[in-house]
Amino acid sequence: MIKRFIRRVLGLEQKGPLRLPRDKHHLSRDQLSPGARKVCEVLAQHGFAAHVVGGAVRDLLLRLPPKDFDIATDARPEQVKPLFRRALLIGRRFRIVHVMIGAETVEVSTFRAAQPETEGTQARVQDEHGRVLRDNVFGTLEEDARRRDFSVNALYFEPATEEVIDYHGGLADLKKRTLRIIGDPETRFREDPVRMLRAVRLAAKLGLAIDAATRAPVKRLAPLLESVPPARLFDEMLKLLLSGHASACLRQLRDEGLHKGLLPLLDVILDQPLGERFVTLALAQTDARVLAGKPVSPAFLFAALLWHEVLAAWRAREKRGERSLVALDAAMDEVLELQCEKLAITRKLTATMREVWAMQPRFEQRSGQRALRLLEALRFRMGYDFLALRAASGEVAADLEAWWRAFQGADPDTRRAMLLPDTGAQKRRRRRRRKKPAAPVEPAA
Ligand code: ATP
Ligand code: MG
Repeated sequence: MIKRFIRRVLGLEQKGPLRLPRDKHHLSRDQLSPGARKVCEVLAQHGFAAHVVGGAVRDLLLRLPPKDFDIATDARPEQVKPLFRRALLIGRRFRIVHVMIGAETVEVSTFRAAQPETEGTQARVQDEHGRVLRDNVFGTLEEDARRRDFSVNALYFEPATEEVIDYHGGLADLKKRTLRIIGDPETRFREDPVRMLRAVRLAAKLGLAIDAATRAPVKRLAPLLESVPPARLFDEMLKLLLSGHASACLRQLRDEGLHKGLLPLLDVILDQPLGERFVTLALAQTDARVLAGKPVSPAFLFAALLWHEVLAAWRAREKRGERSLVALDAAMDEVLELQCEKLAITRKLTATMREVWAMQPRFEQRSGQRALRLLEALRFRMGYDFLALRAASGEVAADLEAWWRAFQGADPDTRRAMLLPDTGAQKRRRRRRRKKPAAPVEPAA
C-alpha cells in the first residue's frame, strides 16, 4: 500500500497523470513569455484547452531560461489560426500554427496521437525501419503526452490553473536528473532516429544522465540515422553545435557511434593529433561564446570541423602535382560533396566556409598590396579568427597570427612599415605576368 503510494507520488504508476497544484511546484504563469501567456489566454477564452509543454516547462522547472515556448491545445490548426491576427499554418509532417506576437513566435500544436492508425487510413505512414514519415492523427492530452520523446519533455503547464500535469514520471526523472525515453526505447528510436541525437544534446545541455535502458539500443541503432533526410540532420546538428555544450555532445556522439551518419569524416580528423587539437579548440571556443551570450557563426564552426579533411585532400593533390590554389579549390569541392550527402549544410553556409578556407593561403602573403587588399576582404575577420585557431593548434607559426593581429590594429603608416619586402619569386611572377600582353609573338615566317 505504502509502496503503491510512493510509486504514485513518483509518477511511476500510470493510473492517470500526476497533477501538481500551484503550491507543489515553483512554476508560475508570470514566468511565461508575454506571447505564450497571450496565446493560452485567447485559446482558453474560446473554450479550448491550452498548455505550455516541452522544453519550456522542463527548463523552467530546472530554473533554466527557456529557448522558446510551445503550446499544446485541443483546437485544430484551422481553428487556431483565425483567433490571431498574425498566424501561419506550417509543417508538412505535422501541421502546426506559428502565432506571432510582437517579436515572438509561439508554436501551437494540436494534441496528437502516438499509436499507429487503424489499417487502411493514410494519416500515419512508416518506412521499412519503422520510421514515421507522416503523422497527422489528432488525439487527447494523454495521447499527446505518449508520443513525446522523453519523460521530461512531456510535462504540461496550464497557465489558467497553474497546474503541472505529468503522465510519464517526468517530474521524478527531473529530480533524479535522468533523461528517459517514453515507451520502448527501440521502437521510439526506430520511429524517429533523430531522437538519439536529441538524447545526447538534451543530456549534455541539461546535465542529465541518459537512463540505461534508453541508452542500451543506441549503438546498435545508430546506422538508422542514414535514413533521415540530410536537411533534418543538418538542423539537428546545428542545434547541437550551438547548444553551448558542443564539445561534450560530440564526444558522446562519438562514444555512441552516432557521428558516422553526421560527420563521416570526424573519425579521420580526430585520429590525427593536430586535427583533434584543432576541433577541440574550435568547439571549446564556440561553447564559451554561446554560454557568454555572444553570437557564433555556424559557417565558421563547420569550416573548422572539416578543415583538416580539406587540408589532407589539398596536400594530396599538391603532391600529385596540381597547382596549389587549384588543388585547394578542388579539395574544398571534394570534402563538401562527400559531407553534404549525409548532412546537408546549406548553400549559404558552404559559400562562407569556402571563403574562409580560400583565404588561408592568402595570409602567407605579408608583402605589398596583397596584404593590404586582404584586410579589405568581406570575411577578413572570420578568416583571421580561423587563422588564429590554426596557430593555437600548432598548425601554423604563432608569429604569422601575431603579425596579422598587429597589422589589422595598426594605423596606415605602421602598416606600410610592417610589410615584408617582396620576395624574388613574387617579383619574377609579377614581371612575367606584366610582360605577357605587351609582347605579341610574331608569327613564324
Ligand atoms: P529545446 O527547444 O530546448 O532545444 P525542446 O525539447 O523544446 O528543446 P523542440 O524541438 O523545441 O525541443 O521540441 C518541443 C517538444 O516537442 C519537445 O519537448 C518534445 O516534447 C517534442 N518533440 C520534439 N521533437 C520530438 C521528436 N523527435 N519525437 C517526439 N517528440 C518530440
Ligand atoms: Mg523548444
